[in-house]
Amino acid sequence: AKSEGRKTLRYFKPEMDARQQARRELEADLRKAVQNGEFELYYQPIYDLHREKVSTLEALLRWNHPQRGRVSPADFIPLAEEMGLIVDLGRWVLYQACLDAAQWPEEVKVSVNVSAIQFKSADLFGDIVSALAVAGLPPERLDLEITESVIIQNRDQTLALLHDLKFHGVSISMDDFGTGYSSLSYLRSFPFDKIKIDKSFVDDIAENQQALALIRAIIFLGKTLGMAITVEGVETSEQFSLLQKEACDEIQGYYVNAPRPVSEAQAMMEFYPAE
Ligand code: C2E
Ligand code: CA
Ligand code: CA
Ligand code: CA
Repeated sequence: AKSEGRKTLRYFKPEMDARQQARRELEADLRKAVQNGEFELYYQPIYDLHREKVSTLEALLRWNHPQRGRVSPADFIPLAEEMGLIVDLGRWVLYQACLDAAQWPEEVKVSVNVSAIQFKSADLFGDIVSALAVAGLPPERLDLEITESVIIQNRDQTLALLHDLKFHGVSISMDDFGTGYSSLSYLRSFPFDKIKIDKSFVDDIAENQQALALIRAIIFLGKTLGMAITVEGVETSEQFSLLQKEACDEIQGYYVNAPRPVSEAQAMMEFYPAE
């Protein structure tokens, strides 16, 4: 329905030509960007409330466009997916993240976002195994973040692949939990180690009792199924201390640190919440 709407608009609104033109330029630039090495990985720490230290750094892709400056992944990842470029780009992310993590203390993991397209069209298992081998990174130090769309698009194939990866030692996180549309029943059949609760469930918890009750229920749901819980998008000390009192395991968000260049990885591993 969405693409139909777009098509109709294209014929009646002249400004759509300009937008389409801009998009074509962005596509061409994106294609070149892979070759020109315009991509960079930033890292954001995930803080473990039990061990009271940073457990993981999440790799977040950045595009340093020569004219436009830094282009947000929210703007270019969907495009890279449509163009099929995400397969090469995602492979680059995997290798780079494993190489970076091999330089960190061995108790710190790296997590990598993997798109549904990578699951469908690439030898993802082979890529992951070789990235780990090339970097000399033990599989136990890699966490893969997948979204619901991965599961919806090819359920049986994904399930088999996730089991293989887990058997190999890689852990799996369900990203953006609570934002999708599918039924919750997949939680039972998929071998997630961790659930990452989306930022939208955190925003109001300091002001709104119902928001707090809702996130508490989601945490409980995940814990009941034996999964660890990371809450994303924690920005304030109020949110942090509220979550500290819940059965939540890990915190990610600007309150701990924003994503930063790899050169700051070591510094980001130090985090001491204010009392
Ligand atoms: P995500 O995986 O859900 O990553 C979390 C996003 O929230 C990141 O945005 C991060 O910078 C932002 N964030 C973290 N803490 C806070 C906070 O406290 N407040 C606010 N307002 N935002 C916070 P970013 O880096 O712009 O990435 C956006 C999305 O792009 C990611 O969402 C992910 O879906 C996708 N992405 C990023 N890197 C990759 C990649 O290498 N591969 C794939 N397939 N997708 C990626
Ligand atoms: Ca993520
Ligand atoms: Ca997320
Ligand atoms: Ca997201």
